[in-house]
Amino acid sequence: MRVIAFDIGGTNIEFGIVEDGTIKERGKTSSKDIKDKNTFVHILRNIILAASKDRKVDATSVGIAGLVNPQKGEILISPNLTFLNGLKLKDALSDITDFYIDNDANVYALGEWRYGAGEGKDNVVVLTLGTGVGSGIIANGKLLRGANFYAGEAGHVIIDFGGQWCKCGQRGCIESYIGGDYFPLFAERFLRKMGKTCDKCTMEKLYKMALEDDKDALYLFSEYGRYIAFGLVNIIHLLDPEVIVLGGGIAESFELFKDAMMAELRRRVMGFERRKLSIKKGILGNLAGIYGGYVLAKEKM
Ligand SMILES: [Zn+2]
Repeated sequence: MRVIAFDIGGTNIEFGIVEDGTIKERGKTSSKDIKDKNTFVHILRNIILAASKDRKVDATSVGIAGLVNPQKGEILISPNLTFLNGLKLKDALSDITDFYIDNDANVYALGEWRYGAGEGKDNVVVLTLGTGVGSGIIANGKLLRGANFYAGEAGHVIIDFGGQWCKCGQRGCIESYIGGDYFPLFAERFLRKMGKTCDKCTMEKLYKMALEDDKDALYLFSEYGRYIAFGLVNIIHLLDPEVIVLGGGIAESFELFKDAMMAELRRRVMGFERRKLSIKKGILGNLAGIYGGYVLAKEKM
């Protein structure tokens, strides 16, 4: 089966041509200058038609941030490319291709599930740790979408009801502690107290400091691990997964926060030692979205 899988972001439209589970070709084009639905559809059409020239493309898939209706093939809310709100993308491409679409975190999860760290398991939760915190849930061998396609918003599980403000408008969401837009602010304040500076602090900067054995940076990563654990405790109690995969840029520092995370989980998760459960770092990186797009189309989800 030959699938063209699009990963639509606020800066780039990336795509991969996947044949029988192998990525044969990759490409990308900027999405920054696109301002309207027609131009967007036109760009996708051209890429699909070009890919179909030599050999038939059996299906097209799209992963995009926000809320989509996978049944109707419609983008409901796109926070990054707001002009796409309400676009019936499946209808716009139905004359040239079979079409599948889902939220980018769900697509990422499908990739890690079938081709990555969750391979072979039926109950898998995949978290993406980046600027925000996304997730996708595989329950009993199926992607859990929910009644309104809102399932899997693990970033907005509340771990402190009077806690920090989150971009979503609520207080105390796990994202407002472990998201790449938030944790560095906490780190910056902490380091200042220790007489250090981390100007325009980022997770990358903290990572570099920790690799140079800065003890405060190492401490901050153990705090990071504890915070993740608070979110995971809720997920584990609710869904009883066999594997939790941590993907996204911040998961690169997995080894730095793993011990503190596991210690906190051991303390807080019911029956932790008896459970068949492992927490793993994702292995596909940004290819998860391409593999996941292939899974979405191949399994007609
Ligand atoms: Zn939130």
